[in-house]
Amino acid sequence: MPELPEVETTRRGVEPHVAGHTITDVIVRDARLRWPVAADLPERLRGRRVGGVDRRAKYLLFRTQPDTLILHLGMSGSLRVVEAGTPPEAHAHVDVLLESGQVLRYVDPRRFGSLHLAPGDGEAHPLLARLGPEPLGDAFTGAWLHARARGRRQAVKAFIMDAATVVGVGNIYAAEALFRAGIHPARAAGRVGRARYDRLAEAIRAVLGDAIEAGGTTLRDFVGSGGSPGYFRQSLAVYGRAGASCPVCGTMLRLMRVGQRSTCYCPACQR
Ligand SMILES: [Zn+2]
Repeated sequence: MPELPEVETTRRGVEPHVAGHTITDVIVRDARLRWPVAADLPERLRGRRVGGVDRRAKYLLFRTQPDTLILHLGMSGSLRVVEAGTPPEAHAHVDVLLESGQVLRYVDPRRFGSLHLAPGDGEAHPLLARLGPEPLGDAFTGAWLHARARGRRQAVKAFIMDAATVVGVGNIYAAEALFRAGIHPARAAGRVGRARYDRLAEAIRAVLGDAIEAGGTTLRDFVGSGGSPGYFRQSLAVYGRAGASCPVCGTMLRLMRVGQRSTCYCPACQR
């Protein structure tokens, strides 16, 4: 599933090709995505200029005054930029044609993605309205985590994977950040002190920042009809390494279940 770093890399990859360009047409080959694509979407977007592309959590926001096109890649979606007339490959469900002669193409084999046109900046749309702070934004701090965790018995790993706490912290990033911060994944969120939350906020920013940086090398893949952007190769300290030795202390890494998800941790480094 595309995680926040892949979505941010997608944003950086497509923005130069669409910003400042006018949409000449939208072709919907299959409207049956996670939610049906509105039948009037093509006619509403035709003739509009794309002002820019932003990201909120794992949603891409295409600014098309006076509305915002909210796009989610779902489980298997990807965006490509192709030349007009490029034959659609399998699962190329939506094409956004631009006056530049390029086409923004949405490909999604499993069709769990979505497209919505929402008024204004889209922030009031039900998909976005209740989201917590961006992990790389100024509102996300150890103080925020500490205040929100007060009295909570929920495991800290589940707490930081809750989009109302902070958006975009998927299973891999939660496991890695907790390892970097030295916090046991099953510890009650309300029993982590302020200094440790400061370290955890910093660790979350660092693991996501590293992944976005690693993704920069895949940007060229957005132009051309070649394969999907693929996932980032990132060196992981604990995720997927149960039974291997901790890179810090050499203790054997363990696997446990927290909430519905399995997670790997170091029983010596993480308390
Ligand atoms: Zn260790």
